[in-house]
Amino acid sequence: MRIGTVIVAAGRGARASRGDRLPKQYVPLAGIPVLRRTLDALTAAMNAASPAAVALVQVVIHPDDGAAYDAALAGLATRTLPPVAGGPTRQASVLAGPEALTPHAPDTVLIHDAARPFIEPDIVARVVRALDQNDGAIPALALSDTLKHANASGHIDGTVPRDGLWRAQTPQGFRFAAILAAHRAAAAVGRIDFTDDAAVAEWHGLTVSLVAGSEQNRKLTTPEDLDMAERSFAGTEFPDVRTGTGFDVHRFAPGDHVWLAGVRIPHTETLDGHSDADVALHALTDALLGAIGDGDIGKHFPPSEMRWKGAASHIFLEDAARRVAAFGGRISNVDLTILCEAPRIGPHRDEMRTAIARMLRIDIARVGVKATTTEGLGFTGRREGIAAMASATVILPGTL
Ligand code: MG
Repeated sequence: MRIGTVIVAAGRGARASRGDRLPKQYVPLAGIPVLRRTLDALTAAMNAASPAAVALVQVVIHPDDGAAYDAALAGLATRTLPPVAGGPTRQASVLAGPEALTPHAPDTVLIHDAARPFIEPDIVARVVRALDQNDGAIPALALSDTLKHANASGHIDGTVPRDGLWRAQTPQGFRFAAILAAHRAAAAVGRIDFTDDAAVAEWHGLTVSLVAGSEQNRKLTTPEDLDMAERSFAGTEFPDVRTGTGFDVHRFAPGDHVWLAGVRIPHTETLDGHSDADVALHALTDALLGAIGDGDIGKHFPPSEMRWKGAASHIFLEDAARRVAAFGGRISNVDLTILCEAPRIGPHRDEMRTAIARMLRIDIARVGVKATTTEGLGFTGRREGIAAMASATVILPGTL
């Protein structure tokens, strides 16, 4: 069984523009574009409805939207066929989808609006099941409001009986060969006025059955729809919060000062290392890199490279902060614990916090610095060196 999916994303969506100047299918909802949400939801529902089926996902886009499409689906795990450009009408755009799927020979096809990101698995399952018995099947809702007919001056001139009337939704499912033939036939005689695929199918004499849709599966049409969808997604999903940890040790060597968290502290020894051996900044750097899964300090600044000999460690931490920013992240907080018997850290705590806050370009309230002895135990207790551990929290745009 091969199921094709055509997502129609070629519209200009002027009605729904929130001033973003983006067509509505590319507008982010709680950080994730509408199209990506719709594609994710539909493919997940298809996999649930027909786990054994081969899914062929074809998106139809506006010829001007190539860059927006690439940005919207960047890094998506779901495999999609290369997008195809739609035509001047909805009907022409939809037809481009099945035409592109033809070489892949799907048995059935689901045609879905990009602007319906709330599609539910149950609806997809009902449509797929109904295709066993029918050429086509669409989700629909009974009307609950009374229907009025008005004349040109806005006065009611009739009440329309609503018996037998339904509101059509998507995805609309069809046997592939049947809907392709129907669309081609409509195009051949210049019929371009149909507003959904079921109408093309009906015109061509296919049997199309109704299955239950849902109010949840609404089409985002107006700015109010987008605002409501934004609130809905923002309220039901978790923010993408990452944490990382870092740990480092440097041994003492003869000398008269140590660098700790960017502060030069007079001491009876120094810390040995390739750089300035600022064990605290090294732990913090690894914590930030860990939060974005970008290796560690040794990967980016190999000790084998002479140019980092004696380097001031703020270089490493500032580089990690730049990597976080390039990843799209914001640093929420960092926390540092220095483990040593001496020197005493407390008198330098606020100077350290100030230095770190400046390197990371964050408020000092987001920087914690603590210290502890190890009660005379272990290598730090024997005053052989200093250890530091750190954690960092990074917030990414979007949601999990
Ligand atoms: Mg180190």
